[in-house]
Amino acid sequence: MSDDDCLFCKIRDGKIPATITYRDDDVLAFKDIGPKAPLHELVIPLRHAPTLADATDADAGMYGRLLVVAAKRAKESGLAADGFRVVMNAGPGAGQTVFHVHLHVLAGRPLAWPPG
Ligand code: AMP
Ligand code: ZN
Repeated sequence: MSDDDCLFCKIRDGKIPATITYRDDDVLAFKDIGPKAPLHELVIPLRHAPTLADATDADAGMYGRLLVVAAKRAKESGLAADGFRVVMNAGPGAGQTVFHVHLHVLAGRPLAWPPG
């Protein structure tokens, strides 16, 4: 599934440039354009889905794949020896600005808790 107006579908299709760090048949990872930590990548499903809020049991495999790739990228970065964080903002009040599901992967600096 795709959405002609979706920024991350355009990155997936190579219509907007991004620094791609991982790709397989289901998942794409690329560097966030406004990094909030030394490692800040986004992990997205290739299939367009707007938000975690719409998740159903049928999506469980896809969400699991996002987490596995996030852990792989954290490990490969060499910046996560002390730990890393994955964040998925769901809905505008939680900070979601791009409505194509994406997991943030952050590492390389102390990460305070709770987040803002
Ligand atoms: P969120 O606010 O959780 O929806 O996250 C959207 C993220 O997309 C933000 O961290 C942005 O910095 C990032 N972003 C926006 N445009 C681009 C782009 N063209 N390439 C890479 N990351 C982007
Ligand atoms: Zn999309």
